[in-house]
Parts: sequence; C-alpha cells; structure tokens
Amino acid sequence: MILLDGKATALQIKTEIKESVEQLKTEGKRVPNLIAVLVGENTASLSYVKSKVKACNMVGFDSSLIHLDADTTEAVLLDLIKQLNTDSTVDGYIVQLPLPKHIDANKILLAVAPEKDVDGFHPVNMGKLTLNLETIIPATPYGIITLIKAYGIETKGKRVVVLGRSNIVGRPTSILLSLNKPYGNATVTLAHSKTKNLDKLLLEADIIIAAIGKPHFVTAAMVKEGVVIIDVGINRVEDASRKRGYRLVGDVAFDTVAPKASYITPVPGGVGPMTIAMLLKNTLLAYKG
Ligand code: NDP
Repeated sequence: MILLDGKATALQIKTEIKESVEQLKTEGKRVPNLIAVLVGENTASLSYVKSKVKACNMVGFDSSLIHLDADTTEAVLLDLIKQLNTDSTVDGYIVQLPLPKHIDANKILLAVAPEKDVDGFHPVNMGKLTLNLETIIPATPYGIITLIKAYGIETKGKRVVVLGRSNIVGRPTSILLSLNKPYGNATVTLAHSKTKNLDKLLLEADIIIAAIGKPHFVTAAMVKEGVVIIDVGINRVEDASRKRGYRLVGDVAFDTVAPKASYITPVPGGVGPMTIAMLLKNTLLAYKG
C-alpha cells in the first residue's frame, strides 16, 4: 500500500508557485492577489477562508479577507462582486459557501466574472471543463487529478466510482476522469444517495473517489484488493482524548481499507492540502490571464 501524500505534493506545488512569485518580484511586477469573501459567522467557513488567505501569503500573493455581517443583503453582496469584477488589482476571488439562507447562492455565482472565478464554479468554467476546453478547474477535483498524476496512477480504461455528485466535488471529478486526457479515459460511474447496488459497484471499482461526508462509510468488505482510494470526506467525530473533543476522519474506514488498497489518501493530509494548493495555482493562472 502506498500512501498518497497530499501534504508533500501540495508543498511541492506551493514551492513552485512561490518561485514564480519571486520571479515576478525580480521583474518588478505586481504579485497575484486573491480576495476571500465570507458572509456570516460559520466557524468552519471562517477557519477555511483564514487558511486560504494564510496559504496565499505564504507563497507571496497579496490576499485579504472581506468578512461581512450575517445580515448582509444580497444586493450589498452583488455590489461587492461588481466591484471585485472590475478591480484590476484583484486577479481572483472566492465567495465562501454556504451563504446565509436569505442570499441566493446561484445569483451570486452567476455574478462572478468567469475569469476571476478561481473556484471554477461559474457555468462558463464548468461548461468549458465539460467540453474538454482549457479552463479554471474547481480546486478539489483539480487536486484529485493532480495527486493521481503525481503518483503515476493509470486511469485509462479503469473502472472508477465517484461517490457523491455535488457540483463542487463529485460531478466535476467524474467529468474530468472521463475526459480524453492523460489523467482521464476512465469508465466512470457517478453514485449518489439514490444509487442501487452500490456495494456491487464499489467491489468492481479499480478507483474509488469518496465524497459524501459520511464518516467511515466505505468499509473493507466493499472494496477489492488493489483498489485505489481517494478519500475526500472531512468529518468530525467525537474523540475525548483530543483537546478539542473531536478528530477528523474521512468517508473511508482507513485502518481496515488501507491493507487492501494499492494507493490510499489519508485524512487529514490527503485531498485537503491539495485543494488549497490548487486554489493558489488557479489564482496564478487567473493572474497570467
Ligand atoms: P454534499 O453534501 O454537497 O454532497 C454529498 C453527496 O453524497 C450527494 O451527492 C449525496 O447524494 C451523496 N450521498 C450522501 N449519502 C450517500 C449514501 N449513503 N450513498 C451514496 N451517496 C450518498 O457534499 P460535498 O461534495 O460538498 O462534500 C463531500 C465531503 O467532502 C464532505 O465531507 C466535505 O467536508 C468534504 N470536502 C472536502 C474537501 C477537501 O478539500 N478535502 C473539499 C470539499 C468537500 P444526493 O445527491 O443524492 O443527495
């Protein structure tokens, strides 16, 4: 079993980005600038955006957090987006999800300028991805294919089950892996809560991408020998032995599945760090235009 070390791979990517930034500085050019927008006080969201801004600063980008009150109106947020779209010093921005219920997330998404949409969620970017055109790829799926590439895992002709069909993880990942690309050409099944005979599908899979948000959902009995496991899930489970009272686990029962796997990502330290690294890469690509 080989551990897919997302932390180390992400560090390598971040080091390369940092070198590009140094080069820009040497040439007297401005550095890439990413803005994170957060509405409300969701603790998990606040910690995500803070780690994104911190990662930007570590590679030498300009980055700041615009933190708006929970009762910010949709109109005010749309106004801010208009400003960000036209501000030539901003290369990319993210509007952290989930948004408060009184704000229509789709309206916000559609207002983002596609060339500044470093999350890759805008329909223009998602459409290009589907058509196998060059575009901004959502950070988590981008992280998954980058990790697969980094470890030279063959996807051509393989049977892949992507568990979970969200717009930000499962669906774009399933599209990417089915494209006619070096990391694609797989035969992909996109499974969800209405999927029948999931156990059978999983047992036949050469590669499983688990993104459902259910702790330890995939067990050893569900996978075949030699399977490749990419565990996207980040779930909190109570753990009295930890100071904070919980620990993070994936959607896969790592301890029992790992001995059967040829490759497997740990949680934490797998897809999570890759997501941040690819967000930085997307920002650099948006800067370059
Ligand atoms: P969503 O909640 O948006 O989607 C979950 C998906 O899982 C849905 O498609 C749902 O099906 C499916 N599902 C739920 N239960 C089952 C089941 N019993 N069997 C089969 N399918 C099921 O999740 P996200 O994609 O946003 O996130 C998934 C996980 O990945 C979470 O733990 C999240 O924290 C983590 N995550 C990690 C990231 C990282 O950087 N590592 C980044 C983003 C997310 P249906 O559509 O039918 O409801």
